[in-house]
Amino acid sequence: MARKFLLFIFLIFVFSSCGDEGLKKFISTDIDKMLGEQASTQYENGLSNKILSETKHQDVYRIINSIKNKILNSGKIKNKDNFVWELKIIDDDSTLNAFCLPGGYIFVYTGLIKYLDNEAQLAGVLGHEIAHADNRHAIDNITSQLGLSVLLSIVFGSDNNQLISIAQNLVGLKFSRNNEEEADKLSINYLYNTDFDAREANGFFKKLESEKNAEELLEFLSTHPSPEKRYDKMLDEWKSLGGKAGKKYEEEYILLKNYLK
Ligand SMILES: [Zn+2]
Repeated sequence: MARKFLLFIFLIFVFSSCGDEGLKKFISTDIDKMLGEQASTQYENGLSNKILSETKHQDVYRIINSIKNKILNSGKIKNKDNFVWELKIIDDDSTLNAFCLPGGYIFVYTGLIKYLDNEAQLAGVLGHEIAHADNRHAIDNITSQLGLSVLLSIVFGSDNNQLISIAQNLVGLKFSRNNEEEADKLSINYLYNTDFDAREANGFFKKLESEKNAEELLEFLSTHPSPEKRYDKMLDEWKSLGGKAGKKYEEEYILLKNYLK
């Protein structure tokens, strides 16, 4: 027991002297998966709106999963075969949001799907959320906000209550500005390696910018920085990659929205 405690103290010392990337290397991605599984179960149990049934809405799931799979097959996802990348649609037209929990548990609201204009825009939002999970941004948050000792107590499996309480806070987690910028940039990079037009990845922000007083936008904006200027940076990233055009899939998107009616 004393030995385990000394190891614990030693690791706090080692981890504290590492940068963010150095630190994450030592924490197994199993922690992400454990947290994500716990958080997604808790979230679904407490949800007042229903998860759209996969058997009743096969067409909707088929189209959205094929968009998700294009991103996962972009060759840019580090944890492609490691995380679950399971997508669920929440039947709630009044909420404009999507998020991805650690370990790849993706949730998309029908409100967001109906708000967007084409598949490439939805791919852009999914890419952004997938980037947060793939790059383990929640782990950065837990270490910076709750401290390393809390994270290590989960790593060592010594406190299950702590795991449950951290998982409770993962939905609606606010990421650092650096992590948000990284997710924006990666979203462009993912889409660039698919047949989607990567410029559309900033389409959502363009739309938000043009009607930023709309009340239903508050949900997304509560966990994400203001769209102002974000789309310019994303466009710069697209240009730096070579500025290749791609497909928007507008007609296919109308079909998807019709399936949701
Ligand atoms: Zn984000």
